[in-house]
Amino acid sequence: MASTYRTRFAPSPTGKMHPGHARTALVTWLQARRQGGKIVMRIEDIDRPRVVPGSADAIFRDHEWLGLDWDEGPVFQSSRDEAYERALSQLQKADMVYPCTCSRKEIAAIASAPHGDEGPRYPGTCRNGVTKPGKPPALRFVFEGSSPGFEDVLCGTYPEGRAGGDFVLRRADGVWAYQLAVVVDDAEAGITEVIRGADLLSSTPRQIALYRGLGCPVPRFAHVALVVDGDGTRLATRHRATSIESLREAGRSPEQVIGELACSLGLTATDAPICPKELVQVFELSEISRSSFTWNPKG
Ligand code: GLU
Repeated sequence: MASTYRTRFAPSPTGKMHPGHARTALVTWLQARRQGGKIVMRIEDIDRPRVVPGSADAIFRDHEWLGLDWDEGPVFQSSRDEAYERALSQLQKADMVYPCTCSRKEIAAIASAPHGDEGPRYPGTCRNGVTKPGKPPALRFVFEGSSPGFEDVLCGTYPEGRAGGDFVLRRADGVWAYQLAVVVDDAEAGITEVIRGADLLSSTPRQIALYRGLGCPVPRFAHVALVVDGDGTRLATRHRATSIESLREAGRSPEQVIGELACSLGLTATDAPICPKELVQVFELSEISRSSFTWNPKG
């Protein structure tokens, strides 16, 4: 029987691909190939001001160079306004959305606001009507009751009630929120397992609430531990982090980079050069290393 397994690469074209992205992409690729499933490439470019021109093409090139191919796409979030509009109106009809004119500063200033894993929880000030009529509103999702817990394939139990507060679906400037776009896209693409960096673990309860609100099946989630700098900070595109491009330009081979990442995941005993295909047979998602990995640039 053909596999029904579906996952995705979902890079944001806001800078260069770095070893952290490559490590998560390697896990995603190996799991999909091991399961005989499909990978969808999706470019998360909804926050247009943050998009760096040319970076989507550079990300494609880096994936190809590393040998991490995909089966469908690329899908660009910037071309999916209609799908997000449809989902929003479905939620609006179900009374799960309201306009809000509070600023970030105002919310942060409510000192008594309980904090969730995602910072201050919005206390629902505008639920019964906006406080600043005439100001363009953001649209918020009514996140009622105890936030859902879930079992992460790699991080274990994420407790119920930890993430809360009505969250934004569309910003006041009209930009779709990541939470809405990612759920609509993953649901429509029939993604059965989301594999991504552990920085997004605490977003998952909100996304589960959206899947439920939209009446869509909830996928499995596997959050991969992050790659950090020598000083323990997460490698991020905003940083002067080593990029895959800079490693290539410094003369490193894709097999060398994959070898180091595979070793960091506990897939191989040494960081000897290897290509992704050779790792498929030894790969078991639930057995990969769960600790963050310090990237030490080699000379
Ligand atoms: N676009 C996000 C990133 O590059 C990933 C979002 C996701 O996988 O849900 O970090």
